This record gives sequence, structure tokens and C-alpha cells, in this order.
Amino acid sequence: MNVKHTRKILIGMILFGSMLFGGVTVQVLGSGGPESGDKRASSAYIVWVDGKARVLVDFGGGAALRFEEAGARIGDLDLILLTHLHIDHTADLPALIKSSFFVRRRRDLPLYGPSQNHLMPSTAVFAKRLFDSQQGAWQYMGDFLDGSASYRLIPHTVPASHKIRRIYANRGITVDAVSVHHGPIPALAYRVNVEGKSITFSGDMNGAYHTLERLAKGSDILIAHNAVPKGAQGVAASLHMTPDTIGRIARQAGVKLLVLSHRMLRTLGREHETQKEIRKYYKGKLKFANDLSRYRL
Ligand SMILES: [Zn+2]
Repeated sequence: MNVKHTRKILIGMILFGSMLFGGVTVQVLGSGGPESGDKRASSAYIVWVDGKARVLVDFGGGAALRFEEAGARIGDLDLILLTHLHIDHTADLPALIKSSFFVRRRRDLPLYGPSQNHLMPSTAVFAKRLFDSQQGAWQYMGDFLDGSASYRLIPHTVPASHKIRRIYANRGITVDAVSVHHGPIPALAYRVNVEGKSITFSGDMNGAYHTLERLAKGSDILIAHNAVPKGAQGVAASLHMTPDTIGRIARQAGVKLLVLSHRMLRTLGREHETQKEIRKYYKGKLKFANDLSRYRL
């Protein structure tokens, strides 16, 4: 094989690689909920920009392994967004921060999440309860909060509000947040905007605040949580969107692609029925996510 031919192959490989991984993509690390038996990691997502994992949204159980499998590097992260502080959205966060001890990271890492109520601490207090050098559950990790580690984890508590607010703008990425109704638990939905594209993450919510349709307006992708089936009632329906609510919101927001995640034993196997409910309202593209599914914007 001559040099010219080898060069051609190399250029082809680079172009193919950039087709696959260049630009903006969103990857589902965990497509499940809190149950054992769904064979899925719990809620977690990456927004990739030009091959770099820039934004992490939620980090539930199993996400640390999926983060590795996806080839993501903690050094590339610009920020972490937590939709709420339930275990299936946060459990692997200590594992992620610990793993960063072994890599080169010098930049501070902001961590955003909701405010407190009688059931939940604020995101700032949550981070302290995990890592505070005096009283944290893992107090030996205190240097990540107090600035003596190679970088600092900086928690930000986002106040509850039905008004959409810009909470982050740096290095070409902006993030907007709004409160969503997840039973009695403080919860946020986020919209990540980058390179003229946008992805909206519903988090867990039931739609009662009517805020997600505004936040997601015109998004390229809406990742909505499909935790309950058609006709769900009671506690399940006060926590999560039924499929017809998802369909209504996706239509009102006019999203280009609807991705269903946070799939649970009660919705797995009912995709046909779920899709039929959603299709009553939303006619655009629809996908059911699995762990490591990746979507181009
Ligand atoms: Zn959840």
C-alpha cells in the first residue's frame, strides 16, 4: 500500500469519525428508573459537542459504568445538571467525583440542581452532606468542595420558579431551567443550547405546572420520561406524565424528535400502546431509548 493510498484511508476514517461523533449529539447513559430487574442503568445523559462530553444531566445508579462505556472523560465536562435529588438520578455522583481524582482536571466543575423543601435538601446542602470534610458521608472527599483538590466542585441551588431562567452561559453552552411538578419533590427541567441546537430534558414530572411545553418550544430533541403507562392514576400519576400528556407537550412544543427514556417495568412491553397514545397528539419522530442510545441533532 503506498503513502497516498494510506493517507486517503486515514482521511476517510477521520471524516467517518466526525460524521459519527462531530457536531452535537445526545447520549442516553441510563434509560431506566429506580427498579432492579429492568436491566438498565438509572437516569443519566451526556450532551456531546465535537466528540467531547460537555454536559452531564443526572447520574443515577449504573451511570458511572455507562460513562466509561460511552468513552466519556470527566476532564471534558463543563457542568453537571441534576433534575432532582432522588436516588435514581444521583446515586453514582460520588463514584464519578472519586474517579476524577485519577485524571487531570484543573477547571472547577459546576453542579446545578433544585432548591429544598421539607422532604429534600437544597443542592448545595446535598453536596455538603455527601462530601463536607467535617460532616459529609464521605468526608475524606472534602477537598473537592473546599478547593484543596486539583479542581473544585461548585454546587448551585436553582430557586424554584415557573418562569424560565437562564442559569448558565459559558464556552458556547447556555442552559435554561424551569420548575416541573414531580409530586412533592422539588424538580427542574433543563434546556441545553449549543451550536444553534437545543435539547430539552423533562426529568421526572407529571405536567401539572404546564412549564415544559414552554421550555421545550422548538427543541431539536425532547427527552421525556415514560415512567407510567396509559391510564396511570394516584401516586404514579402525581409523579409522572402519562403518554397522552407526553404527546400533548411534544406537540405544543413542536419538537423535532421525541425520545422516551426512564422506562420502567410498568411501561416496558407497552411501547405500542404508548406510541398510539402519543400519536393522538404528536406526529413527529419518536424513539424509545436504550442505554447508550445516541441521537444526532
Ligand atoms: Zn426517576
